[in-house]
Amino acid sequence: MNRRTFFQSVIATVGAVTVFSSLVEAEERRRGGGTPAASAAPQLVDPKDPAAKAVSYVQKNTEIKDKNLQTDRQGVKFANQKCNGCQFYPKDKEATVAGKKAAPCQLPFAAGRSVVSEGWCSSWAKRA
Ligand code: SF4
Repeated sequence: MNRRTFFQSVIATVGAVTVFSSLVEAEERRRGGGTPAASAAPQLVDPKDPAAKAVSYVQKNTEIKDKNLQTDRQGVKFANQKCNGCQFYPKDKEATVAGKKAAPCQLPFAAGRSVVSEGWCSSWAKRA
């Protein structure tokens, strides 16, 4: 290997390592990893998620049009049933998430993500 070939192979190797590192970092960001601050950022439950749909989660209880769901629960009229009055809504963890007042719902379907204070799902239960 002459000097020119040696330097060409060194440059190619450094380039390949740089590209590989960038791809690894991009994959970590895609998976929600990356910096601790980025991974700790609260996220809202997407009402279109299958798990959220299974409990009819909406970001505003007025979006529920099914009359069978619009029932009184534990003596509370449907119109007054909102996440912020549910026993699974930790008011002490309420914060602004994506521009909406929200807190991390304690039910498994939310997987630690936040639900909107004006939201509702079929697991609503009156806060004691
Ligand atoms: S369980 Fe309660 S806090 Fe969680 S989404 Fe349903 S109504 Fe909202």
